[in-house]
Amino acid sequence: MATIKTENMEHIRSEQLYAEACEIIPCGVSSSMRKNVKPLLFFERAEGPYYFDVDGNRYIDYTLAWGPLIAGSNHPFINKAVAEQLQRSYTLGAQHPLEVTLAKKLTGILPGVEQVAFSNTGSEAVQSAIRIARTYTGRNKIVKFEGHYHGWLNNVLVSYKPQPAQLGTPVASCGGQPAPEFEDTLVLPWNNLAAVKELLAARGHEIACVITEPVLANSGCCMPEEGYLQGIIDCCREHGVVSVFDEVITGFRLALGGAREYFGLRPDLSVYAKAIAGGFTMAALGGRKAVFDVIREGKTIHAGTYNGASVNLAAALATITVLSGDGCFTRLHAYGHALREHLQLAARKAGLLLVTAGTGSVFSMHFGLREEPRNYADTLAADAALFAKFRALMLHEGIHLLPDGRWYIGITHTDAELAFTRQAIDNTFAGLA
Ligand code: PLP
Repeated sequence: MATIKTENMEHIRSEQLYAEACEIIPCGVSSSMRKNVKPLLFFERAEGPYYFDVDGNRYIDYTLAWGPLIAGSNHPFINKAVAEQLQRSYTLGAQHPLEVTLAKKLTGILPGVEQVAFSNTGSEAVQSAIRIARTYTGRNKIVKFEGHYHGWLNNVLVSYKPQPAQLGTPVASCGGQPAPEFEDTLVLPWNNLAAVKELLAARGHEIACVITEPVLANSGCCMPEEGYLQGIIDCCREHGVVSVFDEVITGFRLALGGAREYFGLRPDLSVYAKAIAGGFTMAALGGRKAVFDVIREGKTIHAGTYNGASVNLAAALATITVLSGDGCFTRLHAYGHALREHLQLAARKAGLLLVTAGTGSVFSMHFGLREEPRNYADTLAADAALFAKFRALMLHEGIHLLPDGRWYIGITHTDAELAFTRQAIDNTFAGLA
């Protein structure tokens, strides 16, 4: 492996571009989620697991573009499929045979998924799920959990990162979210089945759906307690409420069949995006035909100009083919496990408290905690400032991490990257201790 340029790492060109961008793009970024990433780097290219910034620095990337790049960048098989499709059509605003091919593939891979509807982003597919659930049940309320992220729209960007004093009540997560737009959103702490049972027993007749990330990847990668997710599904069935699993992160990542396969669960609906198309713009809503029937019956609609765009369908099919390779998920899980072990070992040696949480190829590190967090509230006790320092030192070592402690692993992370990363971790902990 060629040496990664880390000595005297400079970000001069990035700094210039950022200053220019701030004049003409709000906060200089295209998604507010990126504005707190410091230093704010500009990248000109990516290859396999590597990102190259505009100052000539190379990094092993563990952000995977916030999840989608499970097959890395510039993957020859995906490139070929996309390039071939580009010659035929980009998008048609009409039916394409690949829709049928991909839908067949997905209903084969995703346990219990009888039908799929294509969208472009996770946010959109979540909204479709909610609208379908409301039509199906004839009810308006939705239930979500503290710390869970289901996209940036007003009815779900609620209690996403509440302050400690805001726990227990639904709160807007940014400006421009008038209260009436989320008055139908009820919020509960996660991993507390009694709370779900109590709410549905009291108000189930008003509730259209319960939506949850199966692993709380957006807030510390908390794992569901034994029986919790099945408990939600059972409780929803008992009260005629639609269960919606937001698999935007866990789909095609915990296993090819996502959380449905990994945990052996069959919610009514599941939302997929990110890894489904390896970095191309694609989302899918999958689930029970009986629930989707509200669309067939003309009771509601699912729409979007770019839904089922042919190039993105080709990218999704190619990504799924790549992920279907022998031992793919075993390797992803083993890599994640090895990294977590090494992080914990290094922290112990440095005398620092650290726990990691999550599973397989997505996990989070939490300085200052003694036990794995069970829910969002538990993550508030972690030492975020120490992680920021860790992240900055790791960047200098040539490792690119997300700002919230999450690590994403892809299939192009190999033994060479693992060895390099372990060394970077050791160097970084030496600097932290
Ligand atoms: N749901 C989850 C669990 C997510 O993590 C995200 C994005 O990070 C979304 C929904 C929204 O997806 P998108 O950013 O594609 O709109």
